[in-house]
Amino acid sequence: MGGTTAGYRTMLLDAPGRPLREAELPAAEPGPGQILLRVTACAVCRTDLHVIDGELPDPKLPLVPGHEIVGAVVETGPGAGRFARGERAGVPWLGWSCGACEFCRAGRENLCDRARFTGYQIDGGYAEYAVADERFCFAIPDLYPDTEAAPLLCAGLIGYRSLLAASAGGPAGEARRLGIYGFGAAAHIVTQVARHQGRRVFAFTRPGDAAAQRFALQLGAEWAGGSDASPPEPLDAAIIFAPVGALVPAALRATAKGGTVVCAGIHMSDVPSFPYAVLWGERELRSVANLTRKDGEEFLRLAPRIPVRTEVQTYPLASANDALEALRRGAVRGAAVLVPGSHEARPGGRSG
Ligand SMILES: [Zn+2]
Ligand SMILES: [Zn+2]
Repeated sequence: MGGTTAGYRTMLLDAPGRPLREAELPAAEPGPGQILLRVTACAVCRTDLHVIDGELPDPKLPLVPGHEIVGAVVETGPGAGRFARGERAGVPWLGWSCGACEFCRAGRENLCDRARFTGYQIDGGYAEYAVADERFCFAIPDLYPDTEAAPLLCAGLIGYRSLLAASAGGPAGEARRLGIYGFGAAAHIVTQVARHQGRRVFAFTRPGDAAAQRFALQLGAEWAGGSDASPPEPLDAAIIFAPVGALVPAALRATAKGGTVVCAGIHMSDVPSFPYAVLWGERELRSVANLTRKDGEEFLRLAPRIPVRTEVQTYPLASANDALEALRRGAVRGAAVLVPGSHEARPGGRSG
């Protein structure tokens, strides 16, 4: 086949605040250093909701959302050689960074001022095809079918970076007791990694969400409760995945002296003021932004060795709005994953 697709189906955002619309885009072609992927799975992330709801400024419009893309390479652009045709590749949120600024040169490309993000400034994976800069793509571990690999690419990577950021918290500096606020896609992966590392996990869900609490316990959390509850003992570290600013003082209050609280989301409602005493005692409060390629390589090596298993609920591409609403309601167990052309979906494993 040539270097292009025929026109292809997408779910398109015309403007923030509107539902996505089924639309066909004209043929896609990989440019220099790019690969063209036939998308086989694209996970749905809370960040997609923030983009669609207009909580993140200046998205490309119209926009194809989606930044947890697994696909098969169908064509490579000039100079692109990392992936062979037919090979699987994963496309994450960080789609491009400048490589020249202070942050990039220091290995902190996640903070690059000129960085461009998939499904935000670059068209993403709510589509039958996607184009990506191959330098920012990942090989997909053989263990995972496409749908189960997709959530690793943001929920997994950002979760992993958040866990690294939290891992020195607490009196002994090793975060043995880890609190997780918001038990969605990232939390269900991080819990497995944290348990594998011998940490004790305390899961905080929406108050009264018994299903999420059961899910957390099944995955190895030793305690699960509402985010309005206190854990049975102080935490050494906490990761906040829920976009709720009021959880920041709550998590600090639940954390021991020397503890670390990590805000892992890209957007949060305002953080209410709180007395200095809840931060005092060398508690640390920090955020985690985006990912680096190094995070991705490390995590994707680690995940199959644990092995992390992802639980997914699949939706046809045309049902993207339903998947987003389910995520908004907290009705997704694990991760929601869009499957374009589900009649063509095949189990995982390399096809090349
Ligand atoms: Zn840069
Ligand atoms: Zn994401």
